[in-house]
Amino acid sequence: MPLYVALYPIAADDSPTTRDYLAGLEGQRFAAIDRFFAREAARYHLGLDTPLKIRLRPALDAVPPQREPTAGRLATALFTLKLRAWAFLHSGHAHEPEDIRLFVLYHDPERTPAVPHSLGLRKGLIGVVYAFATPRMDGANEVVIAHELLHTLGATDKYDPDSDAPRFPDGYGDARQQPLFPQHYAELMAGRRVISPTRWLQAESLDEVLIGPSSAREIHWPEHPEAPPAERPEALRAPPLETRAARCPAQPSAARTAACSSGWEAASTERDSRPIGSPSRSVNVPPASVTIATQAAISRMLMSVSTTTSI
Ligand SMILES: [Zn+2]
Repeated sequence: MPLYVALYPIAADDSPTTRDYLAGLEGQRFAAIDRFFAREAARYHLGLDTPLKIRLRPALDAVPPQREPTAGRLATALFTLKLRAWAFLHSGHAHEPEDIRLFVLYHDPERTPAVPHSLGLRKGLIGVVYAFATPRMDGANEVVIAHELLHTLGATDKYDPDSDAPRFPDGYGDARQQPLFPQHYAELMAGRRVISPTRWLQAESLDEVLIGPSSAREIHWPEHPEAPPAERPEALRAPPLETRAARCPAQPSAARTAACSSGWEAASTERDSRPIGSPSRSVNVPPASVTIATQAAISRMLMSVSTTTSI
């Protein structure tokens, strides 16, 4: 029996772009997430062809409670109780199992270039994902959805919250890869592919992501996975922009300097100048200025509330 994941889309604003995007959503849109978990389960010899199945639910009109960015431990605990009560009220009415419930709030990137942190609650198996209502961001949205999904199952973040740097070794796609850089894959709970000791790029689709042994252990998957495929499609391995990397600090654990940070954003944006995936519908592509902010925002989308998993 797979784990059934009910995905409830929610329009986070009244933009026609968001409305049209939600109207065009169909279950098939999320098949890449099912395929990703099937691929990784096979690599870990889990013995399940379909470990997890996403089921698209009708869009909700209600918006879940939002956690204050400054919330401390107590406020966060109260928030999670409120969120669970809200989820109880607004979901679970279908005659199908809902092992995990994900509420995905879609934002028009023209109106909201930066979204709040997504989060996954282990207790209650609830995730709230802040996503962008454009096919151009489908791949990045899927990475965030899969990341929060794994949080609900008990996986923890594998990156340094101050610098966004994937932690070595457990935040690397393959810590034994030779040579170590550039990493061919991003680890799901780090969300970023390490290009050099000083540079990492947001994963833009689940094709460039895998589940590392540390995260696998946390969700009670078997040990000793097959090695990841050494080669990925050429298109995914965009050449690193070394000129920008030269301005960054020498140690990956060091906090990012402003120069490094802006270099990273610029690098991401340049990478983003080509189409991501194959949009199934025609929607206006955000102008470059919005894309810069949007790309920067994805890294924040991945962060979660660290205290929530222990509440
Ligand atoms: Zn996280």
